[in-house]
Amino acid sequence: MERIVVKFGGSSLADAGQFQKVKAIVKADPRRRIVVVSAPGKRHPDDEKITDLLYRCHKLAVAGGDFSGPLTAIRERFAAIATTLKINSPVPSALDELSARLTGGCNADFAASRGEYCCALLMAAYLNAEMIDPSHSIAIGGDGGVLPETYETLGRLLADPAKTYVMAGFYGYDGTDGQRAVKTFSRGGSDISGAIAARAAGAALYENWTDTSGILMVDPRLVYDPKVISEISFHEVREMAYMGASVFHDEAILPVREAGIPIRIKNTNRPQDAGTLITPQLSADALARTEIAGIAGKQGFSMISVAKTMLHHQAGIVHTLLGVLLRHGISFEHCPSSIDSISVIMETEQLKGREDVVVAGIRRAIEPDSLVVEHNLALLAVVGEGMSSTPGIAGKVFTALGKSGVNIRVINQGASEINIIIGVAAADYEKAVQEIYLAFVG
Ligand code: ASP
Repeated sequence: MERIVVKFGGSSLADAGQFQKVKAIVKADPRRRIVVVSAPGKRHPDDEKITDLLYRCHKLAVAGGDFSGPLTAIRERFAAIATTLKINSPVPSALDELSARLTGGCNADFAASRGEYCCALLMAAYLNAEMIDPSHSIAIGGDGGVLPETYETLGRLLADPAKTYVMAGFYGYDGTDGQRAVKTFSRGGSDISGAIAARAAGAALYENWTDTSGILMVDPRLVYDPKVISEISFHEVREMAYMGASVFHDEAILPVREAGIPIRIKNTNRPQDAGTLITPQLSADALARTEIAGIAGKQGFSMISVAKTMLHHQAGIVHTLLGVLLRHGISFEHCPSSIDSISVIMETEQLKGREDVVVAGIRRAIEPDSLVVEHNLALLAVVGEGMSSTPGIAGKVFTALGKSGVNIRVINQGASEINIIIGVAAADYEKAVQEIYLAFVG
């Protein structure tokens, strides 16, 4: 039988009621055999996540202070779940051990990992499943990514198709030193753990359960009640994430993408909703249905433009220009050019405190006729694989912007024709996104 890895985020595990929903979801499909859990998250906006409480304990312990306040809050949260659900909880002794380790000077990663560890212990007891502690099987490298030996080790631990497993998310061990100390991924990293488990187990699908019914076509702060994307490719979702859409942990895509395993984003509170399917290859249906997948964007960019007659005849001019940026450790986003001019767009943050030296360096290196620096730019990306085969998409975008009086500062379309990047003044950003959304969705 094919298996599905189901990963539940913090809000899906925040209290006993959420645990009950998780159980119902797992039991509703016998293929859901591998459950990956985050630590319990916020129950209401003013609440504190278990992971944040754990970091607080560690900080207090390092300062030689009393960490019993946040530790008691953690104990109470787990106890409330166990009592309501009548689980014989192994969590109190795990937290006693944490308390001793905090006093003994454990590292922050170990402390933070205990949220997922305790949650997995409790969920495994609740589901009558086998608990998997990834502190011996998921090897994390110096760059924070997963090391390849993980897949075989973890695959062996998850091998029995008849069993249900509950694995703690967010951490593994430091694969770069012999001590094999507990090491966490970056914040929100349980998404990565779920993807690793899916690949290690050869799962048919990776379901990522959260508190929204999928990926939205556009930021809901800019457009009221935007449509959910029903199907999106890995390639498109990377573009959306890079351009600021809050999809899910960017790095979580890589392990499943390499293995060709699709991801479905689902809502724990509305399991009946279809959610969003992220797939290696869009179905013919999806390609026919959607001209674009979505619109994403970011503010806070600057553009340095240089102009010089016959610029394009000067060999290595782009190399020289980017070389100046490289010397200052500045990476750029786009580099549009015309016959006599080149522009480079970068995050304004990267120019802070050194704009003058960078500009002087460019002037020296290129001796341009003119050099202009513009700030307060926003970039937005209209993303969609359908673009390359559908004429008129760019026309639709530019007509919408033209009609609404938005001045386009930059246009860039990558060779893969999966997105159109448009630069506008920051003040026009919201309007630009809204107009483009309206042009495609109505
Ligand atoms: N609990 C961790 C965090 O809050 C990891 C996760 O939830 O994915 O960042």
